[in-house]
Amino acid sequence: MDFRAYLRAERLFTETPYEQIGLLPKERVTAVPSEVVFDNFYRSQKERIYCHICGGHRHLNGITGLVDGDKRMLFGSSCAKEFFGAETAKLCAGESKQRTRRAHNRYVIQVIANSIEPIEGWLKSYRPLLTHIESAWVEMLLKHEKPVAHLLTHLARNNGRVVETSHVAVGGNAKQLERVEQHSIVTHVSPSSAIPYLKQIIQRVTLVEAFVYAVQSVRTEPTDQMFANLAAKHQKTLEAAEVVDACIAFTRDFFQPSKLILLASWMEKERKKRLSHLAEVKPQNL
Ligand SMILES: [Zn+2]
Repeated sequence: MDFRAYLRAERLFTETPYEQIGLLPKERVTAVPSEVVFDNFYRSQKERIYCHICGGHRHLNGITGLVDGDKRMLFGSSCAKEFFGAETAKLCAGESKQRTRRAHNRYVIQVIANSIEPIEGWLKSYRPLLTHIESAWVEMLLKHEKPVAHLLTHLARNNGRVVETSHVAVGGNAKQLERVEQHSIVTHVSPSSAIPYLKQIIQRVTLVEAFVYAVQSVRTEPTDQMFANLAAKHQKTLEAAEVVDACIAFTRDFFQPSKLILLASWMEKERKKRLSHLAEVKPQNL
């Protein structure tokens, strides 16, 4: 539903001004009603609409006025200014503008709510799994902090690729070999954008849940402040949901058995490489 349709549904805008309840007959109104509220705006594409103030078919765009409680009359904005007085017309226009703005806020919140609801459902069904994933990473880093942190840093730095560096002799002589560094990609784990957040998954989930709750609680009658707060948090919430999604994908990719074998053997080679720098290998280095 676009905003125009939303306004139509909220009866703040109409394209069929003649089809309104309580509309006065097409006769000029001469006595100024004691009460008036600008009920909605009308727009007509094809015909000029009858004006109860100037008594002719002059306006394509205009206003439906609610007068004396339950009667409706149609008029253009300049006719209204003359008839009701500039002060009253300004007051009515201002009040109607505010109503439209509040409707716009409600509309945006509804759009946001619609975009967030599938995420909410998805998070709800995944929450136990997400808790499990996060504690798996926490536990792994606790038990094998150095090698795992080394691997994750390596993956983050290489855009998810596991790169093996070897030195290949390319020439020289018996005394002095000339070697070059050669890099080969062992495997890759993606998306590497998840790496910094593997221990913050539940934190992100909580952020999304708090936002969903906030959207639901202000949905019907948001104050301007509530609306501004929500709009500001919306983008951050979508980003948090993306992070959670990336963490699931990364974990799933990382723990594929065939990949784990490659990662383990790379880690083992890295460990040996570090040991080779030590002059003497002691049991505690192993
Ligand atoms: Zn008029």
